[in-house]
Amino acid sequence: MEENNFKSGYISVVGRPNVGKSTLLNSIIGEKISAISSKPQTTRQNITFIHTDDDSQMIFLDTPGIQRPKNKLGEFMLNESKEGIEEADIITYIVDVSKRIGKAERSIIDILKEYNGQIPIILLINKVDKIKKEELLEIIYMYSNEGIFDELIPISAIKNDGIDIYLETLKKYLKPGPMYYSEDMITDKNERFIVSEIIREKGLRYLNEEVPHGLAISIERFKKRKDKNFYDIEAIIYVEREAHKKIIIGRGGSMLKRIGTESREDIENLLDAKVNLQIWVKVQKNWREKDNLVKRFGYNR
Ligand code: GDP
Ligand code: MG
Repeated sequence: MEENNFKSGYISVVGRPNVGKSTLLNSIIGEKISAISSKPQTTRQNITFIHTDDDSQMIFLDTPGIQRPKNKLGEFMLNESKEGIEEADIITYIVDVSKRIGKAERSIIDILKEYNGQIPIILLINKVDKIKKEELLEIIYMYSNEGIFDELIPISAIKNDGIDIYLETLKKYLKPGPMYYSEDMITDKNERFIVSEIIREKGLRYLNEEVPHGLAISIERFKKRKDKNFYDIEAIIYVEREAHKKIIIGRGGSMLKRIGTESREDIENLLDAKVNLQIWVKVQKNWREKDNLVKRFGYNR
Protein backbone atom coordinates (compact mmCIF):
# COMPACT_ATOMS: atom_id res chain seq x y z
CA MET A 1 0.00 0.00 0.00
CA GLU A 2 2.64 2.49 1.02
CA GLU A 3 4.39 4.02 -1.90
CA ASN A 4 7.63 5.88 -1.67
CA ASN A 5 6.21 9.27 -2.40
CA PHE A 6 2.99 8.91 -0.45
CA LYS A 7 2.28 11.95 1.74
CA SER A 8 0.13 12.21 4.82
CA GLY A 9 -0.57 14.33 7.84
CA TYR A 10 -2.96 15.89 10.33
CA ILE A 11 -4.67 19.15 9.53
CA SER A 12 -6.27 21.04 12.33
CA VAL A 13 -9.14 23.31 11.30
CA VAL A 14 -9.64 26.19 13.71
CA GLY A 15 -11.83 29.26 13.71
CA ARG A 16 -14.62 31.02 15.50
CA PRO A 17 -17.98 29.33 15.72
CA ASN A 18 -20.13 29.69 12.60
CA VAL A 19 -17.35 30.55 10.13
CA GLY A 20 -18.04 27.37 8.14
CA LYS A 21 -15.59 24.75 9.42
CA SER A 22 -18.06 21.90 9.28
CA THR A 23 -19.37 22.98 5.89
CA LEU A 24 -15.83 23.01 4.53
CA LEU A 25 -15.04 19.55 5.83
CA ASN A 26 -18.30 18.13 4.60
CA SER A 27 -17.68 19.53 1.14
CA ILE A 28 -14.21 17.96 1.09
CA ILE A 29 -15.46 14.59 2.20
CA GLY A 30 -18.68 14.77 0.25
CA GLU A 31 -20.85 13.20 2.91
CA LYS A 32 -22.70 14.80 5.71
CA ILE A 33 -21.21 13.84 9.03
CA SER A 34 -20.45 16.86 11.08
CA ALA A 35 -23.50 18.64 12.40
CA ILE A 36 -24.09 21.89 10.56
CA SER A 37 -26.53 24.54 11.60
CA SER A 38 -26.87 28.27 11.42
CA LYS A 39 -26.41 28.47 15.19
CA PRO A 40 -22.89 28.70 16.56
CA GLN A 41 -21.26 25.94 18.59
CA THR A 42 -22.82 22.99 16.87
CA THR A 43 -19.58 21.06 16.85
CA ARG A 44 -18.66 19.94 20.32
CA GLN A 45 -15.68 17.68 19.94
CA ASN A 46 -12.92 17.05 17.48
CA ILE A 47 -14.17 14.95 14.64
CA THR A 48 -11.67 13.34 12.37
CA PHE A 49 -12.38 13.35 8.66
CA ILE A 50 -10.15 11.44 6.33
CA HIS A 51 -9.50 12.36 2.73
CA THR A 52 -7.48 9.88 0.72
CA ASP A 53 -6.44 10.07 -2.91
CA ASP A 54 -3.81 8.39 -5.08
CA ASP A 55 -0.78 9.90 -3.45
CA SER A 56 -1.90 11.43 -0.17
CA GLN A 57 -3.98 11.08 2.95
CA MET A 58 -5.21 14.13 4.84
CA ILE A 59 -6.65 13.71 8.30
CA PHE A 60 -8.71 16.70 9.32
CA LEU A 61 -9.58 17.62 12.87
CA ASP A 62 -12.74 19.69 13.12
CA THR A 63 -12.26 21.64 16.32
CA PRO A 64 -15.20 22.94 18.35
CA GLY A 65 -14.28 26.58 17.92
CA ILE A 66 -12.24 28.80 20.13
CA GLN A 67 -13.99 31.17 22.48
CA ARG A 68 -13.90 32.03 26.16
CA PRO A 69 -15.61 29.22 28.09
CA LYS A 70 -18.76 30.03 30.06
CA ASN A 71 -19.25 26.64 31.69
CA LYS A 72 -17.84 23.09 31.94
CA LEU A 73 -18.89 22.28 28.42
CA GLY A 74 -17.17 25.43 27.18
CA GLU A 75 -13.96 24.49 29.01
CA PHE A 76 -14.03 21.08 27.40
CA MET A 77 -14.52 22.61 23.96
CA LEU A 78 -11.64 25.06 24.33
CA ASN A 79 -9.30 22.29 25.49
CA GLU A 80 -10.28 20.15 22.56
CA SER A 81 -9.48 23.00 20.19
CA LYS A 82 -6.06 23.60 21.67
CA GLU A 83 -5.21 19.91 21.61
CA GLY A 84 -6.32 19.88 18.00
CA ILE A 85 -3.76 22.55 17.18
CA GLU A 86 -0.95 20.80 18.99
CA GLU A 87 -1.51 17.51 17.18
CA ALA A 88 -1.39 19.16 13.77
CA ASP A 89 1.14 19.04 10.94
CA ILE A 90 -0.67 21.88 9.23
CA ILE A 91 -3.07 24.44 10.69
CA THR A 92 -5.99 25.79 8.72
CA TYR A 93 -7.50 28.93 10.14
CA ILE A 94 -10.85 29.77 8.68
CA VAL A 95 -12.55 33.16 8.88
CA ASP A 96 -15.83 34.63 7.68
CA VAL A 97 -15.09 37.25 5.05
CA SER A 98 -18.10 39.33 6.04
CA LYS A 99 -16.80 39.86 9.59
CA ARG A 100 -14.02 42.26 10.52
CA ILE A 101 -11.17 41.23 12.82
CA GLY A 102 -12.74 41.62 16.25
CA LYS A 103 -11.74 40.61 19.76
CA ALA A 104 -12.46 36.94 19.18
CA GLU A 105 -10.41 36.75 15.96
CA ARG A 106 -7.64 38.66 17.68
CA SER A 107 -7.42 36.07 20.46
CA ILE A 108 -7.19 33.22 17.94
CA ILE A 109 -4.52 35.05 15.96
CA ASP A 110 -2.58 35.49 19.20
CA ILE A 111 -2.76 31.75 19.87
CA LEU A 112 -1.65 31.03 16.28
CA LYS A 113 1.32 33.36 16.62
CA GLU A 114 2.82 30.83 19.06
CA TYR A 115 2.97 28.33 16.21
CA ASN A 116 4.26 30.73 13.57
CA GLY A 117 7.34 29.28 11.89
CA GLN A 118 6.81 25.84 13.46
CA ILE A 119 3.64 24.65 11.77
CA PRO A 120 2.46 25.92 8.36
CA ILE A 121 -0.67 28.04 8.76
CA ILE A 122 -3.13 28.34 5.87
CA LEU A 123 -5.77 31.03 6.10
CA LEU A 124 -9.08 30.27 4.42
CA ILE A 125 -11.22 33.31 3.81
CA ASN A 126 -14.67 31.77 3.61
CA LYS A 127 -18.08 32.91 2.39
CA VAL A 128 -16.69 34.98 -0.50
CA ASP A 129 -20.07 34.50 -2.18
CA LYS A 130 -21.33 37.12 0.29
CA ILE A 131 -19.15 40.02 -0.83
CA LYS A 132 -17.91 41.89 -3.90
CA LYS A 133 -14.52 41.20 -5.49
CA GLU A 134 -13.19 44.68 -4.66
CA GLU A 135 -13.87 44.15 -0.99
CA LEU A 136 -12.03 40.85 -1.04
CA LEU A 137 -8.69 42.40 -2.00
CA GLU A 138 -8.85 44.71 0.95
CA ILE A 139 -9.60 41.85 3.32
CA ILE A 140 -6.78 39.71 1.94
CA TYR A 141 -4.45 42.64 2.46
CA MET A 142 -5.66 43.11 6.02
CA TYR A 143 -5.01 39.48 6.96
CA SER A 144 -1.68 39.26 5.18
CA ASN A 145 -0.52 42.20 7.29
CA GLU A 146 -0.70 39.89 10.31
CA GLY A 147 2.41 38.24 8.89
CA ILE A 148 1.74 34.73 10.16
CA PHE A 149 -0.02 33.04 7.27
CA ASP A 150 1.91 30.89 4.82
CA GLU A 151 -1.02 30.95 2.40
CA LEU A 152 -4.25 32.93 2.05
CA ILE A 153 -7.01 31.31 0.03
CA PRO A 154 -10.47 32.77 -0.61
CA ILE A 155 -13.17 30.09 -0.72
CA SER A 156 -16.87 29.51 -0.59
CA ALA A 157 -17.36 26.26 1.29
CA ILE A 158 -21.04 26.18 0.51
CA LYS A 159 -20.52 26.62 -3.25
CA ASN A 160 -17.50 24.38 -3.38
CA ASP A 161 -15.39 27.27 -4.69
CA GLY A 162 -11.66 27.21 -4.05
CA ILE A 163 -11.71 23.80 -2.37
CA ASP A 164 -9.51 22.28 -5.11
CA ILE A 165 -6.93 25.00 -4.63
CA TYR A 166 -7.01 24.42 -0.89
CA LEU A 167 -6.41 20.68 -1.31
CA GLU A 168 -3.57 21.30 -3.77
CA THR A 169 -2.02 23.73 -1.32
CA LEU A 170 -2.27 21.26 1.55
CA LYS A 171 -0.52 18.66 -0.56
CA LYS A 172 2.34 21.04 -1.07
CA TYR A 173 2.90 21.25 2.69
CA LEU A 174 2.33 17.58 3.53
CA LYS A 175 5.39 15.48 4.29
CA PRO A 176 6.05 11.91 3.18
CA GLY A 177 4.16 9.60 5.50
CA PRO A 178 2.14 6.40 5.76
CA MET A 179 -1.49 5.76 4.98
CA TYR A 180 -2.81 5.84 8.54
CA TYR A 181 -6.34 4.71 7.70
CA SER A 182 -7.60 2.38 5.01
CA GLU A 183 -8.60 4.30 1.91
CA ASP A 184 -12.34 3.71 2.24
CA MET A 185 -12.56 5.27 5.72
CA ILE A 186 -13.95 8.78 5.88
CA THR A 187 -14.08 9.14 9.65
CA ASP A 188 -12.75 7.40 12.74
CA LYS A 189 -15.92 8.03 14.70
CA ASN A 190 -18.19 5.09 15.23
CA GLU A 191 -21.65 4.88 13.78
CA ARG A 192 -23.25 5.39 17.15
CA PHE A 193 -21.60 8.77 17.51
CA ILE A 194 -22.51 9.85 13.98
CA VAL A 195 -26.10 8.83 14.62
CA SER A 196 -26.23 11.05 17.70
CA GLU A 197 -24.79 13.96 15.68
CA ILE A 198 -27.46 13.49 13.01
CA ILE A 199 -30.23 13.67 15.59
CA ARG A 200 -28.64 16.69 17.27
CA GLU A 201 -28.35 18.47 13.95
CA LYS A 202 -32.05 17.96 13.19
CA GLY A 203 -32.91 19.17 16.65
CA LEU A 204 -30.87 22.34 16.25
CA ARG A 205 -32.14 22.94 12.77
CA TYR A 206 -35.82 22.87 13.59
CA LEU A 207 -35.89 24.43 17.01
CA ASN A 208 -35.98 28.14 17.23
CA GLU A 209 -33.81 30.33 19.39
CA GLU A 210 -35.76 29.44 22.50
CA VAL A 211 -33.93 26.13 22.78
CA PRO A 212 -30.26 27.03 22.86
CA HIS A 213 -27.43 24.59 23.04
CA GLY A 214 -28.51 22.64 26.05
CA LEU A 215 -29.31 19.78 23.75
CA ALA A 216 -27.58 16.45 24.25
CA ILE A 217 -28.24 13.09 22.67
CA SER A 218 -27.77 9.77 24.36
CA ILE A 219 -27.99 6.62 22.25
CA GLU A 220 -29.54 4.03 24.54
CA ARG A 221 -29.79 1.16 22.10
CA PHE A 222 -28.10 0.47 18.78
CA LYS A 223 -28.75 -3.04 17.61
CA LYS A 224 -28.73 -4.81 14.29
CA ARG A 225 -31.41 -7.47 13.91
CA LYS A 226 -30.02 -10.93 13.43
CA ASP A 227 -29.61 -11.88 9.75
CA LYS A 228 -31.43 -8.72 8.71
CA ASN A 229 -30.30 -5.42 7.27
CA PHE A 230 -32.35 -3.67 9.93
CA TYR A 231 -31.38 -1.65 12.99
CA ASP A 232 -33.30 -0.79 16.13
CA ILE A 233 -32.09 2.47 17.57
CA GLU A 234 -33.30 4.24 20.69
CA ALA A 235 -32.19 7.73 21.59
CA ILE A 236 -32.92 10.25 24.30
CA ILE A 237 -32.78 13.97 23.65
CA TYR A 238 -31.84 15.72 26.87
CA VAL A 239 -32.82 19.32 27.38
CA GLU A 240 -32.25 21.67 30.28
CA ARG A 241 -35.79 22.87 30.91
CA GLU A 242 -39.33 21.56 30.99
CA ALA A 243 -40.35 24.34 28.59
CA HIS A 244 -37.74 23.17 26.07
CA LYS A 245 -39.08 19.66 26.25
CA LYS A 246 -42.51 20.97 25.25
CA ILE A 247 -41.02 22.79 22.25
CA ILE A 248 -39.11 19.75 21.07
CA ILE A 249 -42.14 17.52 21.27
CA GLY A 250 -44.28 20.12 19.55
CA ARG A 251 -48.02 20.32 19.19
CA GLY A 252 -49.40 16.81 19.26
CA GLY A 253 -45.85 15.47 18.92
CA SER A 254 -45.41 17.05 15.49
CA MET A 255 -41.91 18.46 16.02
CA LEU A 256 -40.51 15.26 17.47
CA LYS A 257 -42.04 13.34 14.60
CA ARG A 258 -40.34 15.60 12.09
CA ILE A 259 -36.97 15.31 13.83
CA GLY A 260 -37.43 11.55 14.01
CA THR A 261 -38.41 11.06 10.38
CA GLU A 262 -35.60 13.17 8.96
CA SER A 263 -33.05 11.63 11.29
CA ARG A 264 -34.16 8.16 10.33
CA GLU A 265 -33.76 8.92 6.63
CA ASP A 266 -30.20 10.17 7.14
CA ILE A 267 -29.32 7.23 9.37
CA GLU A 268 -30.71 4.76 6.83
CA ASN A 269 -28.46 6.37 4.21
CA LEU A 270 -25.49 6.22 6.53
CA LEU A 271 -25.97 2.58 7.52
CA ASP A 272 -27.41 1.53 4.18
CA ALA A 273 -30.10 -0.34 6.08
CA LYS A 274 -33.65 0.01 7.35
CA VAL A 275 -33.95 1.68 10.71
CA ASN A 276 -36.54 1.67 13.44
CA LEU A 277 -35.77 4.86 15.37
CA GLN A 278 -37.39 5.75 18.68
CA ILE A 279 -36.68 9.07 20.34
CA TRP A 280 -37.62 10.24 23.83
CA VAL A 281 -37.18 13.66 25.36
CA LYS A 282 -36.02 14.12 28.94
CA VAL A 283 -35.16 17.06 31.14
CA GLN A 284 -31.77 17.15 32.81
CA LYS A 285 -31.45 20.49 34.58
CA ASN A 286 -28.27 22.50 33.90
CA TRP A 287 -26.32 19.55 32.54
CA ARG A 288 -23.75 21.85 30.97
CA GLU A 289 -22.68 22.99 34.44
CA LYS A 290 -21.96 19.48 35.67
CA ASP A 291 -18.72 17.73 34.89
CA ASN A 292 -20.09 14.21 35.23
CA LEU A 293 -23.01 14.91 32.93
CA VAL A 294 -20.83 16.60 30.31
CA LYS A 295 -18.75 13.40 30.35
CA ARG A 296 -21.74 11.14 30.27
CA PHE A 297 -23.02 12.76 27.11
CA GLY A 298 -19.81 11.80 25.42
CA TYR A 299 -17.81 14.99 25.72
CA ASN A 300 -14.64 13.41 27.00
CA ARG A 301 -11.79 11.41 25.59
P1 GDP B 1 -18.83 26.06 12.04
O1 GDP B 1 -19.48 26.46 13.34
O2 GDP B 1 -17.58 26.84 11.82
O3 GDP B 1 -18.63 24.59 11.90
O4 GDP B 1 -19.83 26.54 10.88
P2 GDP B 1 -20.86 25.69 10.00
O5 GDP B 1 -20.15 24.90 8.98
O6 GDP B 1 -21.80 24.99 10.92
O7 GDP B 1 -21.58 26.90 9.20
C1 GDP B 1 -22.25 27.95 9.85
C2 GDP B 1 -23.23 28.62 8.89
O8 GDP B 1 -22.52 29.29 7.83
C3 GDP B 1 -24.18 27.66 8.20
O9 GDP B 1 -25.44 28.27 8.13
C4 GDP B 1 -23.58 27.47 6.83
O10 GDP B 1 -24.53 27.14 5.85
C5 GDP B 1 -23.00 28.86 6.56
N1 GDP B 1 -21.89 28.81 5.57
C6 GDP B 1 -20.82 28.00 5.60
N2 GDP B 1 -20.02 28.22 4.52
C7 GDP B 1 -20.59 29.21 3.79
C8 GDP B 1 -20.24 29.89 2.55
O11 GDP B 1 -19.25 29.61 1.88
N3 GDP B 1 -21.09 30.89 2.15
C9 GDP B 1 -22.20 31.23 2.85
N4 GDP B 1 -22.95 32.22 2.37
N5 GDP B 1 -22.57 30.60 4.00
C10 GDP B 1 -21.78 29.61 4.47
MG1 MG C 1 -18.94 23.10 13.21
